[in-house]
Parts: sequence; C-alpha cells; structure tokens
Amino acid sequence: MRLAILGGGQLAWMLALAAKPLGVSVAVLDPSSEAGAGRVADHVVAAYDDPAGLDEVSAGADVVTYEFENVPTAALTRLVEHGVPVLPSPRSLAVTQDRLSEKQLLAELGIAVAPHAAIDGPEDVANALAEVGAPGILKTRRLGYDGKGQVRVRTAEDLAPAAAELGGTDVLYEGLVTFSRELSVVVARGADGSTAVYTPVENEHRDGILALTLAPVPNLAPALAESAQAAAIAVAEALGHVGVLCVELFETADGIVANEIAPRVHNSGHWSIEGAETSQFENHVRAVLGMPLGDASARGVSAMVNLVGGVPPVAQLDAIAGATVHLYGKEPRTGRKLGHVTIVAESAELLAAPLEQARALADAAWDA
Ligand code: AMP
Repeated sequence: MRLAILGGGQLAWMLALAAKPLGVSVAVLDPSSEAGAGRVADHVVAAYDDPAGLDEVSAGADVVTYEFENVPTAALTRLVEHGVPVLPSPRSLAVTQDRLSEKQLLAELGIAVAPHAAIDGPEDVANALAEVGAPGILKTRRLGYDGKGQVRVRTAEDLAPAAAELGGTDVLYEGLVTFSRELSVVVARGADGSTAVYTPVENEHRDGILALTLAPVPNLAPALAESAQAAAIAVAEALGHVGVLCVELFETADGIVANEIAPRVHNSGHWSIEGAETSQFENHVRAVLGMPLGDASARGVSAMVNLVGGVPPVAQLDAIAGATVHLYGKEPRTGRKLGHVTIVAESAELLAAPLEQARALADAAWDA
C-alpha cells in the first residue's frame, strides 16, 4: 500500500515512520527541499496547489492524507477530481478550518464552548459586546495556530481597534474562559465507524507553544475524563471523520469547555509513540488505509517535553530514566519545535524526578 501526505514536517515524518512496519510506502508533498519527512519518504518538492506536484505525489497512492489543516481548497479539488481518496475527508477540513463552524458543530453536539460572536465589520462590534461582553479574545477565523492571529481585548473600547488590527472581517470574538487546566483528547476513527480513543492529557504552554503534555491528566475526575473522551468521539462521528483528530479543551469548575478541533495527528499525542499500545501515528495510518485500529490504551504514565528553539545536550537527555529522545533534524530558530522527549514510568511518583530533569534541560535550551 502507498500513502501520500500533504506536508513534510515532523508530523509527516512520524506518520512515515509508523507506516513502514505496516508495509506502507510513503510520499510527501512539501515546498521545502529541507522538509524532514523527505529523509524517510519519497519527497515531491512543489507548492501545495501545484497541479503537477499533486499529480506526482498522489500517483499510485491508495489514499492522500495531510499533516496540517490549512490545505488549500484547490489542492483538494484537484485530488478529488482525479478520483484520489482524501482522508480525513474535505468535510473534516472545511469545518475545522473555520473557528466559527467548528464552534457551531461543537454546540450542536451539546459540547460547551466559550460564548462567541462573529465580526465581519464595524457594525458587528456592538452585537459582539452585547453577546460576549469584555474581556475576551479576538481570533482570526482561519489560518490561526499556536495563538497566532489572536488579540486579547481588555475593555469594551478595545474591541473595535483590535478587530481592525486583525483585518476587521472574518474574526471571532470569544469570552474568556476561566479554566484550571488545558486538556486534549486524541481519537482515531476508522471508515467502519470503529474508534480508538486515547486517555485525556494535560497540556502546558509557554509563549503560546505546547511545552509539556502529561498523559493521563493527573487526578482528573473520572466523569470529566469520560465527558472529554465522549466529546472527541462525538466530533469524529459527526464529521464522518476517518483518521485521527484532536479536541482541545479547558477544564473548568462547570465541566469541560471545548476550544478547538485539529483534524489530524497532534503534538499533544506524541507521547503515544512510547506511552500507548498503538501510537496516534500508527492509528492514523491504519484508519486512512482501512486497516483495523490498534489498542489506544496507555502503557503507564507519560510526559512529553517539547524541545523548542534550542536542543539541550543529547547525552544529558539520554541519561534521563525512561526517556526517549526524538530530534526532527531542523535548524534552531526562535519558537521552532526541534524535537521532543517522552518519558514513560510506571507511576506518577516514579515519573516526577525524570520529568523535572527533562523540563530543566528543555527550559534552559528554550530559544537559547
Ligand atoms: P487557540 O489558538 O484557540 O488554541 O488559543 C491559544 C491559547 O489561548 C489557548 O491554549 C488558551 O491558553 C488561550 N485561550 C484561547 N481561547 C481562550 C478563551 N476563550 N478563554 C481563555 N483562554 C483562551
């Protein structure tokens, strides 16, 4: 079998690594000749909307998948016109590319979301204030990631200029959610409707970038864990999603509140390579190629520490008990994810000391 992937970064790289033991060959499309997945897969160097590049990467492929949600519509149209299956389907992309349609879907499913209102011009500002109030957060509806395309709004007077700063149209104004922790749930869904859901995880960010994931969430009330997993499964079912998706959530005093949906493998699921019976990457490959899903159970207690902007001395990372080091082979640059370390232990108590070591090393190298 052959899998084509739009995007050749570290997510595609880990998908390709997971595909190999299943006997699946991989081709990636990425405009950068440096793209990391090119080291472990055939690499077509072309723009995502380049017809010849799309034809080349999808030639002989059983299915085309993607590692990022901002795939140009032109690319999908080209692939679909040529009869190449794209999974997750263009519907998963269409809904999740727009923060408003994403929130509408979540609300329809009875999943709590932040109060919100769309702003498409100065005339919408008064209504947005009436519905949401202040303070709040203004977000571009499309093409935002890692907190980019966002402005905090402190007072009612700030909203109009902040909206103008983001282009004045196609923006979403959200009320601030008071949360205790940020969580996420990764789920894989097969074409036959089967699902494999991972344990909810806790995520900590630094400079708007994921710094740490703890799997499972320490001391999470079982009812909350269940509702978080049920939310992810409900989203996957409602989208008719085939492949992996991730729902990002806030833990609040009133239960979980969903923030966003990523229709793809996710950074907060990297722990599953060592920490789960079947990784999110393997389950994505299995799902899109119609193979049975693997067991998503956790093997113990895991922590994933991202290496951002700079890589600590590898020998020191290697020396940490239970640690596996992943390096993406990228040049250091401020805010760039260069690798991650996953630590698996038998208990939270046994995880604490190695985690502290890994965090200290990663923190010292962060944007060093
Ligand atoms: P996002 O790009 O939507 O994932 O937002 C980036 C980060 O901003 C999140 O991880 C939260 O820490 C914070 N954030 C986003 N939306 C809200 C909200 N409505 N209330 C409080 N914090 C938020």
